[in-house]
Amino acid sequence: MSEDLYLEQLKLGPMENFVYIIGSKSTREVALIDPAWEIDRLLQHLKQEDLKLSSILVTHYHPDHIGGGMMGQSIPGIAEIMAIEPVKIYVNKYEAEGVKKVTGVSDSDLQLVDSGDHLQIGENDIEFLHTPGHTPGSQCFSVNKNLVSGDTLFINGCGRVDLPGSDSEQMYHSLQHLCSLPDDTILYPGHHYSEEESATLAETKKQNVYLRVSDIDSWRQIMG
Ligand SMILES: [Zn+2]
Repeated sequence: MSEDLYLEQLKLGPMENFVYIIGSKSTREVALIDPAWEIDRLLQHLKQEDLKLSSILVTHYHPDHIGGGMMGQSIPGIAEIMAIEPVKIYVNKYEAEGVKKVTGVSDSDLQLVDSGDHLQIGENDIEFLHTPGHTPGSQCFSVNKNLVSGDTLFINGCGRVDLPGSDSEQMYHSLQHLCSLPDDTILYPGHHYSEEESATLAETKKQNVYLRVSDIDSWRQIMG
């Protein structure tokens, strides 16, 4: 891990979501990744740690990650943060409509990004990786051999591909893409679905059956 990289994982809400704080130890600027559920507590925590919110990064538009209406309840998320501390929301260009629809944020709140785009915070270079499959504009964030993977890749599985907007074959290609990252990359998933809270990509490849499928025909058979 780079000397300047601040990376903190917090588990919030009844669906075991992981929210991440990522940024610079020296400048104290940070981004919140997928902030939802306990917004007051998150902002309070930033204050306590003397961190300044400079951006919000969104892996995908599902309300358990960014807030909004879901199954008859309203989950606090990015809209509530924007009302208190407005910052740019970095979202993949294919996910913008979903994010606006679910949270009510506007075009001017969003910074649309594409795969290969970068965001610099202090000495840290965060790369955006477009990983469609779970949703059309799902993205992961790669910084200095750390990968925040949202609902694309879990330590023991991958995101659902039977939801509206999901695409099983795109998921296959996205997982192949993530597998090409260095084996000592540390995976930080979007939910606490396995015993560990993070794992190296090498460990993940060993225990995750979805990463052992080596061609698209086998993938189609397995996924039905
Ligand atoms: Zn999701």
